[in-house]
Amino acid sequence: MGKAVFMGKEGVLYKKPKNEEDFEEYIVYDDIAENLTLLGLMGFSLAIIGNAKNDKPGASFRGAHDRMLEAITHMTPSPIVFGTCYHHDESCECRLPKAKLFLDITEEYDFDIEDSYMIAGYLAQFNAAKKAGIKNIIIVTTGSSKWSKIAEEFAIAKVSSFSKAITIIQDMAAMVIAL
Ligand SMILES: [Zn+2]
Repeated sequence: MGKAVFMGKEGVLYKKPKNEEDFEEYIVYDDIAENLTLLGLMGFSLAIIGNAKNDKPGASFRGAHDRMLEAITHMTPSPIVFGTCYHHDESCECRLPKAKLFLDITEEYDFDIEDSYMIAGYLAQFNAAKKAGIKNIIIVTTGSSKWSKIAEEFAIAKVSSFSKAITIIQDMAAMVIAL
């Protein structure tokens, strides 16, 4: 069994784009490349999970979104597993905040959920991970939004950036080694 760091996309790796059909609107946060590589060196598998909004049938959104994910895979030598709901229908079985994408990937790659982490930037990401049984959830948010107030009671930490979330994981992994 391996351990994984699951990550949301918007609010975690990149800022929510104003126009999701335009690749230029996707802004990746600082230090993502270094930190993804660091997690790989720490022995974590990387899993990026989320919905592609894809509200408009036939829109080029999927192109821009997938191009962004492709760009992220080139930022690190560590392999990344992706779980994405592309389906228009909100009642789709795999759509976050349902846990299916997490559960499918955990089963396929034999991840140990107890040793794994989730970094969540939005409520749907948080709820899906929680439903999947992930206990080590770190919330990334710059504000004190309503959802983060609700979520932080359950989360192990609330931080303002992806880099700070990685520091928490490093500290916790060091504690496990020290025990
Ligand atoms: Zn789906």
